[in-house]
Amino acid sequence: MNILCNLCPRNCLVNRNKKLGYCNAPNKIKISLASLHHWEEPCISMNNGSGTIFFTHCNLKCVYCQNSKISTDGVGKEISISKFADICLSLQAKGAHNINLVTPTMYAPLIIKGIKLAKSKGLIIPIIYNTSSYENIDTIKKLKGIIDIYLADFKYFDNDYAVKYSAAPNYKEVTKLAIDEMYKQVGKNVFDEEGLMIRGIIVRHLILPDLYDDAKKIIEYLYETYNDNIYLSIMNQYTPINYNPKFPSLNNKIPEQEYNNIINFACDLGIKKAFIQEKGTCSLSFIPDFNTDNI
Ligand code: SF4
Repeated sequence: MNILCNLCPRNCLVNRNKKLGYCNAPNKIKISLASLHHWEEPCISMNNGSGTIFFTHCNLKCVYCQNSKISTDGVGKEISISKFADICLSLQAKGAHNINLVTPTMYAPLIIKGIKLAKSKGLIIPIIYNTSSYENIDTIKKLKGIIDIYLADFKYFDNDYAVKYSAAPNYKEVTKLAIDEMYKQVGKNVFDEEGLMIRGIIVRHLILPDLYDDAKKIIEYLYETYNDNIYLSIMNQYTPINYNPKFPSLNNKIPEQEYNNIINFACDLGIKKAFIQEKGTCSLSFIPDFNTDNI
């Protein structure tokens, strides 16, 4: 890990052995949960589930985060690189279809070492990098050859929203560059004969209350740039958790009509490769219980 941390666009330039940066992440891998997860896109979860490892802390820290217990409160355990490799192998032994690294940015160099170690001990399933896309291009470049699948958010097109909800004034530009590099690395999506994704990129957009035009701009940009060479995942599962009087609209769910309008917009553009969600995906029951007892 660099002595002065510049792993993400926050560019804190702190020595994380001595001082914490914006994300509060330590200089060791810290995780909050490792388990089989069944609620990713079907080509990721399949029958057995995705071997999901949730990393503690976050470099974006959106005010509406559904996992604030780990992203902001920092509930998790520090582990060694070899323990991380063992966890990957144990998820594979449990039947995981892939290793799904959720919010890994702050630990990227340590994760690269851990994945190499796990591969040397027999890890063969695809590795997924599941990110907010608030990434430094150099960090993504170092993942070449390590990551098979990118699950990349595109959260805001208008940076005013990125400032308001994530204190990230350059989110759009950074995300465009990051997704471009991801696409260069993994190219068009590849599936095995069972329909399991083994390589490629899915760009996710979680629709936020009142940001319906912003959602359409993201969808339009992605289709104009990548056509059907990537998959989109257009998500309606936003779940209001803590009422914050500073952001009253965040207390609303996504109306079905607004979601349908956005899906129709995507269809009218000609998009054929997209995942959409059914009614009922907005629920607290989809938020994992971050219990570190089994780590
Ligand atoms: S990973 Fe954390 S410490 Fe490093 S630049 Fe990003 S926010 Fe700052």
